[in-house]
Amino acid sequence: MRDYQNYIDGAFVAGPEAFADVDPTTGQQVAWVHEADAALVDRAVRAARRAVDGPWGRTSVASRAALLRRIADEIDRRADDLLDAEVADTGKPADQARALDVARAAANFRCFADVVAAEGTESFLQELPDGGKALNYALRKPLGVVAAIVPWNLPLLLLTWKLAPALACGNAVVVKPSEETPGSATVLAEILDAVGVPPGVYNVVHGFGSGSAGEHLTSHPGVDGVTFTGSTATGTGIMKAVAPRVRPVSFELGGKNAALVFADADLDVTIAGLTRSVFANTGQVCLCTERVYVDRVVFDEVAERLTAAAEGLRLGAPRDAATTTGPVISRAHQEKVLGYFAAAEQAGAKTITGGGVPTMTGDLAGGFWVEPTLWTGLTNEDRVVREEIFGPAAALIPFDTEQEAVALANDTSYGLAASVWTTDLRRAHRVAGQMDVGISWVNNWFLRELRSPFGGTGLSGIGREGGRHSLDFYTETTNVCVTL
Ligand code: NAD
Repeated sequence: MRDYQNYIDGAFVAGPEAFADVDPTTGQQVAWVHEADAALVDRAVRAARRAVDGPWGRTSVASRAALLRRIADEIDRRADDLLDAEVADTGKPADQARALDVARAAANFRCFADVVAAEGTESFLQELPDGGKALNYALRKPLGVVAAIVPWNLPLLLLTWKLAPALACGNAVVVKPSEETPGSATVLAEILDAVGVPPGVYNVVHGFGSGSAGEHLTSHPGVDGVTFTGSTATGTGIMKAVAPRVRPVSFELGGKNAALVFADADLDVTIAGLTRSVFANTGQVCLCTERVYVDRVVFDEVAERLTAAAEGLRLGAPRDAATTTGPVISRAHQEKVLGYFAAAEQAGAKTITGGGVPTMTGDLAGGFWVEPTLWTGLTNEDRVVREEIFGPAAALIPFDTEQEAVALANDTSYGLAASVWTTDLRRAHRVAGQMDVGISWVNNWFLRELRSPFGGTGLSGIGREGGRHSLDFYTETTNVCVTL
């Protein structure tokens, strides 16, 4: 049985209590996780503060960029260990975890090594009324002690998406991984230690949210900023926790993302794209599509072909090469998703595929499985079409005009992502730009350029991360103004 301890000031530290980490494919325990109490969280924050105030806070950009590249190389070398931890915690297919989660972790460090090394200093030569001049330049300094709170769906990818820019900017970080997925953040501690990241720069505290490590961390007075990826409800609580101390927050929250399929779309490309965007990671990606608006002219064809694609998915063990789709993360989440399946039926939906729990055999019988599911017959008024399900399910809804499609897609409190499927060049640009979201894809989904801005509007978040946008969050600037 694995044993995941906290990692504080360069050493693994047991907690006063431990909780079970469960493999969602079987429902069996795979690890003990040491919960950090308030005292351990305090130790971690103090260690981080010492690191920022010590030599780490004064390292050169070049040496930090070099360190980030060494971390990426070590991630590549330890890929199997990260993969094992990630697969045991999430149950996702191993091939997908290798190609996406582990590969992106290394890419995150390489990207931010490049970004920070290329970043210049903003400066303005100011012309004064008396004919004199003043030179303004903005110095970037580390934000300080950064609390990173991350979810369970893409644990390693989303953690490194925050950690890499935070370290690039010279911060020290205290991470609170999800209680469902403590593994890869813990293995990462070994990786960072091996390449010489100084003690206190990377700390991991395990536990839950409210009344546990998550709340202890976000309400700690020594934290200079909080970067959070998770649900909108939790984000609201974290905002309240940091409000009295007026600390910056970066929030990547939930989504209720739309796809718009026009009659002129290349349906081979569209069906392949929608199959990924609805069902990837068992629908547990913040960017997944849960609302598919389809031109009535091709509605039946799209419904039929997407149904066939959904029925072609193979639920199974992560190491089975034929598996395309894993379970959902937990029994509680399975029940939540099944609750939406019931709500859809009550609202009069026609379940055109799925809608229940598949029959799994052997060890997998104890896992948290749900069938890939599609509905027709719902409208934007239905709860299932308004609330984030975070499972392998989507509603297909017809439209008659482009204007109606845009209005339907934007009729949501969320604003994370959209995808537009069309071969009409002008329509592609016109519609993609009208989406009230942080990222609008045309004829693709989840294509991520790491230097581009990423984030959401409305209930989907505050701020943008990615490239220079991340540097803006993970640094404070001091503008120096010198009369010449
Ligand atoms: P969650 O909000 O339940 O938990 C996220 C993290 O917050 C966990 O580590 C949890 O322990 C911690 N937490 C919970 N309550 C807390 C509190 N009061 N104080 C401090 N920390 C607390 O989210 P989840 O179920 O782990 O993840 C799924 C959600 O994440 C979905 O809504 C999904 O859309 C969202 N998500 C968003 C993005 C994005 O980039 N926008 C990416 C992935 C996931």
